Amino acid sequence: MVSAARGVTDKLLRVAKGDLDSLREIEDIHHNLVKNIDDPQARLLPEIEKLLGRLRGIAKALSMLGEDTPAARDLVVAHGEMLSARIMAAALRSIGVPGVAVDAPELGVVTDTKFGEASPITPLAKSLVKPKLASMLAEDLVPVVTGFIGRSLDGRLTTLGRGGSDYTATLLASIIEAREVQLVTDVPGVLSGDPCLVDNPVLVGEMSYQEAMDLAMVGGKKFHPKTFEPVMEAGIPVRITGLEGGQGTIVSPKGSGAPVKAVATGSSLSLLYVKGGGMVGRRGTAGEITTRIAGAGANIVAIAQPASETSISFLLPEKSSNAVVEELSDPELAGVVHGVDVLESAHVSVVGYRVGDPEILSKLASRLPRQPHMISYSGASTAITFALPPPDALEFMRKVHDEVVLPCLTR
Ligand code: ASP
Ligand code: MG
Repeated sequence: MVSAARGVTDKLLRVAKGDLDSLREIEDIHHNLVKNIDDPQARLLPEIEKLLGRLRGIAKALSMLGEDTPAARDLVVAHGEMLSARIMAAALRSIGVPGVAVDAPELGVVTDTKFGEASPITPLAKSLVKPKLASMLAEDLVPVVTGFIGRSLDGRLTTLGRGGSDYTATLLASIIEAREVQLVTDVPGVLSGDPCLVDNPVLVGEMSYQEAMDLAMVGGKKFHPKTFEPVMEAGIPVRITGLEGGQGTIVSPKGSGAPVKAVATGSSLSLLYVKGGGMVGRRGTAGEITTRIAGAGANIVAIAQPASETSISFLLPEKSSNAVVEELSDPELAGVVHGVDVLESAHVSVVGYRVGDPEILSKLASRLPRQPHMISYSGASTAITFALPPPDALEFMRKVHDEVVLPCLTR
């Protein structure tokens, strides 16, 4: 199972917007890759030329039509994986492994028509994919399947959302009842912190599905949010390793290992304090406000509401905050919302299955440089999020990483 070559999906997204320079870069990247593969039967180059030719035709047609719909975008973007699968299969053949490129849409990865973010129709996909993969494996072939892409029931190409190759991998693993999934990336596994932001991150040896999902969502290692869904039921472990091999990080059902495992941060956020005595004891207020926020096109990053009900706090992307404030100033809400304060914010989130333990909470709290804007935690998750003024966030994250997380991981 392969993803597109590095940077290619981003370039393809630009191609879909009519940027033909990016198309030339994509051609160069793949020609160079082909050049480095020993291909005695000269099968690879014509395959690649055919796909690149088709891509060029589609890109030209779209730019002439000025067409930039999600479906058109998926048609363009899907070429990244179709190209890399052929290259990987040829590379395997060049070292004596019988690799065969397989396009997931042909294999039977059928999805709904939510282009750009499609969901597999799992029972149907399973019935189509399983016999085909099984017969290839029975012939000792090594299928190299395109990650990230599928097709709708009416035969159009779809994509599963950014980072979706990992999701394809776990989906196929669940279909063939694999013993383990290995996701090979450009880092040796999940790290305790972002190496650009903390000094000495270490590899997290083991995590639960929940911890890995929470970490992905708060901005740590980027997984597609649904990566672990297909394997959860059967409990298939997922190993994340780098190109150099090594043990990596094993993600499996149970929560064990270090009680806290990683920190992550996110910036360019706004904290909105939505206030008003009219909200107290009034049913539907939270629903009304969140609906308004969604209407303004903002995705809520974190929420908190004390039992006093006199305020609800939302952490959301800074770029959406003006639109949200405008929406919440609608005179129709005047009896409920009496004011919205907007504070520049960043978040620091700590992940681990025991992050809510009193002992750990007090260690975290004692590292806060001053009062945070907001804290969001519930026992349903393995993450706690602190919203802080941006200058405090980095300092707090480093302290938490070095003084709370690292001692847990290296104990
Ligand atoms: N190539 C796709 C992306 O860049 C899918 C993936 O890499 O997982 O999002
Ligand atoms: Mg990728």
